[in-house]
Amino acid sequence: MQEKSFNAFTMAQQQFDQVAEKLGLDAGTRELLRNPMREFHFSIPVRMDDGSVKIFKGFRVQHNDARGPAKGGIRFHPHETIDTVKALATWMTWKCAVVGIPLGGGKGGVICDPHNLSPREQEQICRGWLRQVVRNVGPLKDVPAPDVMTNGQHMLWIMDEYETIMGGKFPGFITGKPVGMGGSLGRTEATGFGVIYCLREALKELKIDITKTTASFQGFGNVAQYAVQLYKEYGGKPVAVSCWDQKDQKSYSFIRKSGIDIDELRGITDKFGGIDKDKARSLGYSVEDANAWIKQDVDILVPAALENQVNADTVNFIAPSVKVICEGANGPTTPEADAVIKARGIFVIPDFLANAGGVSCSYFEQVQCNMNYFWTKEEVLTKLDNLMTEAFHGVYELAKSKNLYMRDAAYMISISRVAEACKLRGWV
Ligand code: NAD
Repeated sequence: MQEKSFNAFTMAQQQFDQVAEKLGLDAGTRELLRNPMREFHFSIPVRMDDGSVKIFKGFRVQHNDARGPAKGGIRFHPHETIDTVKALATWMTWKCAVVGIPLGGGKGGVICDPHNLSPREQEQICRGWLRQVVRNVGPLKDVPAPDVMTNGQHMLWIMDEYETIMGGKFPGFITGKPVGMGGSLGRTEATGFGVIYCLREALKELKIDITKTTASFQGFGNVAQYAVQLYKEYGGKPVAVSCWDQKDQKSYSFIRKSGIDIDELRGITDKFGGIDKDKARSLGYSVEDANAWIKQDVDILVPAALENQVNADTVNFIAPSVKVICEGANGPTTPEADAVIKARGIFVIPDFLANAGGVSCSYFEQVQCNMNYFWTKEEVLTKLDNLMTEAFHGVYELAKSKNLYMRDAAYMISISRVAEACKLRGWV
């Protein structure tokens, strides 16, 4: 996999530049939108359990908040870089805009490995992170959420620190909280289900009967598991998933041509989305190499693991049978691969549209917190389905009427909305 020279922010800027050119955006707006508005770099001193003091590097990036407070996760990762955070913050701006929720784009991170940190040390990092940015975040400024290797517990520590400093209760300050502590029902399913709401609508438009389709998924974490589940409920046949194997330090694909049983496979999967190979073999799955998922003779591919997976090296593995690529992960497809996919006429549902169910449900969480009244799961998922369906059709109609690639159409909608908000505010 082409890891060496991959820079997510360069890719985000390349994608933006192409669309800015097509939209004929003026130089000032381009300059504003191709970079984050604000970028915070800071040090978080933590007294470790052994008595020593360790300094962790933290970031928060607010790409654009013309349409509402910045919104985006906080990632804990040993290889976190500011450019990854900047790219993800930029994509959050486009994501919120394409589904029409009144939020901007943000992202944060800390360079650390939670595997090697005690809960107390992680709590200190969370509280320290908040203390560094407390003046620049808040329910009306920037609303964080969980992301890679952070969860509801981390969010509660951050919220508690914020409320302690501010002297009040602000549950709408942060999302992804546990249910019962201000979290929303349906958030766990939201991203994976949103991916499949979009896929369902795409297949209708393409006149493909979902019950006659097969699909292959990359990943088997939160997004992929719920995507596989709903795709199956709609009558599709998932035949492959893949995952990272922590012990072997490489990934594998798990294939069963007769179809995947989601409950059975979940039963042999750890909390990081890693599947037990021996148990899978005994259940009749063939355990193959990392790229086998993309080579499957299926109708639909769903990359739902991580960025830079459909790239110049792997794009030509895609079988002639593939008609739709529905991107669950952020940034799974590089511009080089995009060019090949475009030329082959494969229908793409781009990441920031397909996986916007998560942030949309986070927005619902904020709304419920602000009302202090919580909806049933059914109500949340119905609202989510309506929002994702409408967003999909907005992009599809533009792509169809102007004969555009779906990613370009989605970008055009988002960038125009954000550019317009900046213009109306008198910024550009
Ligand atoms: P997760 O950590 O729950 O699961 C990730 C899965 O990918 C695991 O099964 C892991 O084993 C697998 N994986 C990791 N590296 C791999 C590799 N090299 N090859 C194959 N599989 C690999 O993560 P998630 O929440 O499911 O997120 C997946 C993607 O979706 C990420 O790009 C994330 O940024 C994006 N996303 C997630 C959400 C959300 O709400 N969870 C929202 C929007 C976008």
